Amino acid sequence: MRQIAIYGKGGIGKSTTTQNTVAALAELGKKVLVVGCDPKADSTRLLLHGMNQETVLDTLRDEGEDIDLEDIMRPGYGNSMCVESGGPEPGVGCAGRGIITSINMLEALGAYTPDLDYVFYDVLGDVVCGGFAMPIREGKAQEIYIVASGEMMALYAANNISKGIMKFADSGGVRLGGIICNSRNVDNEYDMLKAFAQELGSQLIHFVPRDNFVQRAEINRKTVIDFDPTVPQADEYRALARNIDGNDMFVVPKPMTTDRLEELLMEFGLMDSLV
Ligand code: ADP
Ligand code: MG
Repeated sequence: MRQIAIYGKGGIGKSTTTQNTVAALAELGKKVLVVGCDPKADSTRLLLHGMNQETVLDTLRDEGEDIDLEDIMRPGYGNSMCVESGGPEPGVGCAGRGIITSINMLEALGAYTPDLDYVFYDVLGDVVCGGFAMPIREGKAQEIYIVASGEMMALYAANNISKGIMKFADSGGVRLGGIICNSRNVDNEYDMLKAFAQELGSQLIHFVPRDNFVQRAEINRKTVIDFDPTVPQADEYRALARNIDGNDMFVVPKPMTTDRLEELLMEFGLMDSLV
């Protein structure tokens, strides 16, 4: 069983990419558990065909400690299993608590069965402190993928997350498996992300193009593969899934200084004006 955490700046496409990749892994016959670690609780919507999942924290609030696994874990597309940690009321309490509580609860209820090939933790934002770092701090997730694009803030966040991974690499044994580019159609984006990943000592594991078909599937509460398995974007997620499945490059990342990061961005940002 490989336990994978997906990090990246808010809105970059973590939940979308995770679920579409899980659909592709399901096609390969893999059994996957997805644990949403975002109070928004939208990490499993496409796999479940709607937000019909009560979160772990809500269930605990409503029913107390005596809960069954079926209350918090629902079957989704392609034999996947789906959990949403949930969070406190907006503005009160530590959202990271939901993640800690959920993972402990899943362990206690025996959710981590031997037939699982993968567990994916879809983790909120770029915060690598406290509860949000839980999946890596406690060594639950051994493998991290960072979703980024050629936009400066996405790369800042990715670099910061790498700092977090480095910090926990000794104690938890966590490694960076690669950078997933979820394209925003920035100039020289492919080359920039490739260089960024290399500088970290890692790799660009796949470049996912921006495609409005993702939205069309999303409106229909489905992953692309589920909605129309024949479109080109479906093959992109299949390629990403295959690359993750066959990945053997796991590193302790070497984060950049802010100066070096900006230099790198400048190199690629300036390329256009040079040609
Ligand atoms: P996050 O989980 O990182 O906050 P989401 O997965 O919710 O981000 O993605 C934000 C939005 O971006 C979604 O509404 C989704 O439709 C869109 N999106 C993500 N990836 C793509 C893509 N490759 N092409 C087009 N739209 C995308
Ligand atoms: Mg999300």
